[in-house]
Amino acid sequence: MKSRENGKPAWARVEGGFLYPMEFAGGETNGNPVRIEDARLLAPAIPTKIVCVGQNYLKHIQEMGHDKGPLPTEPGLFLKGPNTLADPESVIPYPAFTKEFHYEGELAIVIDKRMKPGYENPMDGILGYTAALDMTARDRQREDLQWIMAKSADLFCPLGPWIETDLDPGDVSVKTMVNGTIRQDGRTDDLLFPVERILSHILTFMTLEPGDVVLTGTPSGVGEVFPGDRIEVEIEGLGGLLAVKIGTRPD
Ligand code: MG
Repeated sequence: MKSRENGKPAWARVEGGFLYPMEFAGGETNGNPVRIEDARLLAPAIPTKIVCVGQNYLKHIQEMGHDKGPLPTEPGLFLKGPNTLADPESVIPYPAFTKEFHYEGELAIVIDKRMKPGYENPMDGILGYTAALDMTARDRQREDLQWIMAKSADLFCPLGPWIETDLDPGDVSVKTMVNGTIRQDGRTDDLLFPVERILSHILTFMTLEPGDVVLTGTPSGVGEVFPGDRIEVEIEGLGGLLAVKIGTRPD
């Protein structure tokens, strides 16, 4: 929903191949429409933080070998900073500090209301849903106690291409393609902790602000990407792909 018209960032409503400029996210439209192909879409949120669920699809928990003990009884959370945002169709440079750069395609929630701890109906505070990539330096994650370097380096959270305000997140497919080949193919009805449960858990201790983003976890099939690879995330009902390319690896 955020576009660039004459070089200036603006919010816009996406409808029938056009962008209708708006004063703010979810506001009234107030300008001339622009064709989507004439604009460069930006990551459609300005978060103070990105809250992420670490293990939420059973098959992903199994592939990571975390299924030996009991399953989590509440969502396991970590944070990515606003520095991690990356625009749709951008190039994510292969980081110098990893030799195992992984994609994790995820359904993302965008918040539009301040919700303080104890807020009772968190589903009312959701602006909509979009696609995200929780980029991960997997080798660093094994040795990095708080996952900061592994998960929160610059450009580690591509987001977009826009926010769907009308999506029911209960049972939609979440697919990730690398160079056109499907690598992840999950459904949100497999989530251990569905959207409402994730938000109520966050709201036991943390305020969510307008623009904040919540990543709901990744299905099985995570894996490596290499320079030149194109990653796409497709969420059923979103009507568009989030796509980014991996840039060259430093020597
Ligand atoms: Mg993830």
